[in-house]
Amino acid sequence: MNRNISTRLIKALHDGQADAGAIAAAGAVLRDGGLVAFATETVYGLGADATQAAAVARLYAAKGRPSFNPLIAHVASFDEARAHGVLDARAEALAAAFWPGPLTLVVPRRPGSDICDLATAGLASVALRMPAHPLALALIGAVGRPVVAPSANRSGHVSPTTAAHVMSDLSGRIDLVLDGGATPVGVESTIVACLPGRLRLLRPGAVLAAAMEAAAGEAVETGEPESGSAEATPIAPGLLASHYAPNARVRLDADAVTAGEAVLDFGGRLAEWHDRASAYFDLSPKADPVEAAARLFAGLRELDASGAVGIAVAPIPDDGLGAAILDRLRRAAAPRG
Ligand code: AMP
Ligand code: MG
Repeated sequence: MNRNISTRLIKALHDGQADAGAIAAAGAVLRDGGLVAFATETVYGLGADATQAAAVARLYAAKGRPSFNPLIAHVASFDEARAHGVLDARAEALAAAFWPGPLTLVVPRRPGSDICDLATAGLASVALRMPAHPLALALIGAVGRPVVAPSANRSGHVSPTTAAHVMSDLSGRIDLVLDGGATPVGVESTIVACLPGRLRLLRPGAVLAAAMEAAAGEAVETGEPESGSAEATPIAPGLLASHYAPNARVRLDADAVTAGEAVLDFGGRLAEWHDRASAYFDLSPKADPVEAAARLFAGLRELDASGAVGIAVAPIPDDGLGAAILDRLRRAAAPRG
């Protein structure tokens, strides 16, 4: 998708201090559901309000990501982290030792947290980080809500460490870039899963496993499964990235509906089946992929809760954000044991 919006670039750090005017303007853009790239101590992040599914859908469209993986929610305080995740004693010890800083904690999501399903990929866990960069901290504090911020580059390109990198990749696709100079660390945050009774490294980064072991007084499991994937760990269902899947059997590219099936429609293509289906949800009556992505998890959950035996999914164009929607639906449709 190629929106051509004009991207503002604001110098937002003076003598190590965040510029109050720039922060207020950027905070307002994020609260309105817009996209702001900003410096963190690791790399430049592309920020969106983690509680607005439409904003997170726009973020995926701007990056051109072909799939929805769970994103890190950035917070401005320990209390904000505790409002969205359940931090046990080990997670608290790690946060106390390394926050603000380049360490991300994957913890159970707190019931009632309003971080949207698109941000967590519908998982029962949430990835939280309090960044140390003065610009990032001030901005997240101004938004007053958690901010997802994957690296501010087009999918498949390298992570940006200067505002100029961000502009060359994303100008015309996002609202604002806050220039905070070159980022000091230059590699992504370390990600560690705080599982019941154990710690597992999911992605190596700026904080080393040995330092975490010293702080937590406990071993950190490394090695298999592949760092970053976390898919293979069966220890805590829903905690790692096994991805939300409905119980109902998902059938893609349907042109008709069979008995007991619910309909997940797109652009009203299966509207004629509305009254005969056991439940009906149109992801986007106007066939807008960004709207459809924002409503994907809500639609799946609603149809699944109807008790339908299956979900017939209308044809969805396999390009841009449509490709990411189809990727998620294909995973939901795959046979599972
Ligand atoms: P980033 O692109 O920097 O926002 O990092 C996203 C990565 O964080 C994902 O690809 C996962 O590896 C990891 N992650 C985020 N949320 C979770 C979660 N709930 N469970 C496991 N890993 C997660
Ligand atoms: Mg990246």
